[in-house]
Amino acid sequence: IRANFSTVTDEYNEITGFITVISDVTEQEKLEQDRREFVSNVSHELRTPLTTMKSYIEALLDGEWQNKEIAPKFLEVTQNETDRMIRMVNDLLQLSKIDNKEHQLQKERTDFISLFNHIIDRFEFNVPEHIEFVRELPNEKLFVWIDKDKLIQVMDNIISNAIKYSPEGGKIIFKAVKQKHQVLVSVEDQGMGIAHDKLEKIFERFYRVDKARTRKLGGTGLGLAISKELVEAHYGKIWAKSKEGKGTTIIFTLPLMGKKRRYNK
Ligand code: ADP
Repeated sequence: IRANFSTVTDEYNEITGFITVISDVTEQEKLEQDRREFVSNVSHELRTPLTTMKSYIEALLDGEWQNKEIAPKFLEVTQNETDRMIRMVNDLLQLSKIDNKEHQLQKERTDFISLFNHIIDRFEFNVPEHIEFVRELPNEKLFVWIDKDKLIQVMDNIISNAIKYSPEGGKIIFKAVKQKHQVLVSVEDQGMGIAHDKLEKIFERFYRVDKARTRKLGGTGLGLAISKELVEAHYGKIWAKSKEGKGTTIIFTLPLMGKKRRYNK
């Protein structure tokens, strides 16, 4: 809490009163601290792949380029690291647009169930054989007012995480449940799960339960943070449930459109 005192004077410069302004600076300081932490995270996250690349390039220059076995592997590592950095910078740019309210959502009336099916189909096409997809979707249309591309991005991120963390022979269950004014969407996997005290943190920028492991899997730690912003921009909520060792469920809601109302863009 910060308090500022000042005096009030009349036209003869006589003090006629006092003003005390008490302001809560904790919120402000927290924002400032978050900002500092974010900048430090970004620098660190970008420095790591750069250092890795540097050492591989140095080894190549030192003569490994002539080694037919090793050279392609080293080049592949630098390519992967470059790809990951590009993904990270793109994610950061998107977050910055969201933060500055520069992003424009192109919302349109959409049947969520057919969109959901379409997205799952796309994944099913490429999914590793040992993972089974189970759909528990209603047999009716559920209309929502959304920016399709953005919602696809949210679902892509949640589903690719579910695949990434699924064990051999694991099931991924896709659900959509119609509630009074909203649709409740969930993606459940049977992976390693997330500890209870970390469940909220996974939606924070750069948070990863196991940094080394997810880095290897090509993650940026920004996917769920972006998903959260995007779901909230559609007036929905997103959260996670999990049992360690048993699996994780990511759940989000979207408001349903009324039946009779007409919507203008
Ligand atoms: P990343 O790019 O690392 O996947 P995300 O923001 O998508 O970043 O996820 C943040 C972290 O949340 C992940 O690094 C992982 O530790 C955890 N996480 C997300 N989804 C799952 C899941 N289905 N099972 C277990 N952990 C998960």
